[in-house]
Amino acid sequence: MNKTPLIGMTLKELQDVCLQLSMPKFTAKQMAQWIYGKHVHTIDEMTNLSKVNREKLDALFCVGCMAPIEKTTSKDGTEKYLFPTENERFVETVYIPEGDRATLCVSCQVGCKMNCLFCQTGKQGWQGDLTVRDILNQIYTVEQLVAEEGKTPLSNIVYMGQGEPLDNFDNVLKSTEILTADDGWAWSPRRITISTVGLKTNMRRLLDDSECHVAVSLHSPIHEQRLQLMPAEKQFAISDIVEMLKEYDWSHQRRITFEYTMFDGTNDSTLHAKELVKLLSGMECRVNLIRWHKVNDVPLSETKPEKMVNFRDYLNNHGITATIRASRGQDIWAACGLLSTKKQSENLSL
Ligand code: SF4
Repeated sequence: MNKTPLIGMTLKELQDVCLQLSMPKFTAKQMAQWIYGKHVHTIDEMTNLSKVNREKLDALFCVGCMAPIEKTTSKDGTEKYLFPTENERFVETVYIPEGDRATLCVSCQVGCKMNCLFCQTGKQGWQGDLTVRDILNQIYTVEQLVAEEGKTPLSNIVYMGQGEPLDNFDNVLKSTEILTADDGWAWSPRRITISTVGLKTNMRRLLDDSECHVAVSLHSPIHEQRLQLMPAEKQFAISDIVEMLKEYDWSHQRRITFEYTMFDGTNDSTLHAKELVKLLSGMECRVNLIRWHKVNDVPLSETKPEKMVNFRDYLNNHGITATIRASRGQDIWAACGLLSTKKQSENLSL
């Protein structure tokens, strides 16, 4: 019989487990501390639970952490992990150390339905949502691996890996609730950023039900062009997304960022910079300009660094805070989604 994993359960759900097994309610708090505080691998390691209770628990439940099956390390220290998922697929997670900080970029779906023109993951199509356990397992495991290896501990989590967070929002939201709960990781929501193309269905919930920072993938201020780059524009146009965001109060240290991947001769002209200023003016936000990594069979190429600098300067000179995101792990990054695409197809052909 398959045991039920405990990773992904809230304190309330752990209390329900205690009730089911006739264990005292306070045991749930102890279990949460062992799981989310100490990252144990087995129930037997929960040594302040009585032996009888550990045996009862172990008969039906397991901690449920899953080790990565592959890891590649870049020259600059960036690491890409390939994790198995509950639906027997694979997703990528990227660890990006930077001085005394380190960001973990986590995935929330296997593949993606959004089909953005420039994205390798989009080409996989959608192959399933990650469970709360799948999402948290990436953080659980990498946090422990970097501690064992004496590397910089995680300071930030970004939901910018494979998949669209608002398309698996219940699980994404629950994972952030466990990350920020006192009986979970007890992280501040300001250490977490949820990135989205801007899905109408859950955008309002992202603003109202979560306190995490928000990043919106913009990529073009021009409707027709954004539609070509990102079919999601059809459902919720960037002008409507920005209008909704402008109505929201961003003054409580919560941050809104716009991600802008630059493509040579496509979205990097002065006209685009002007349109971007027009679109975002009057809004407390910043724009992250991102260098693109070539994806096979995609008729786009990356903008030259000098042109990115000019674009950034234009935005900054016209009241929009813009930065160029440092390109990290280029030697292993090249086409985010490539590693899992390869693994998925190997698996399907077995
Ligand atoms: S860029 Fe993000 S939303 Fe678009 S296809 Fe790729 S993973 Fe999905």
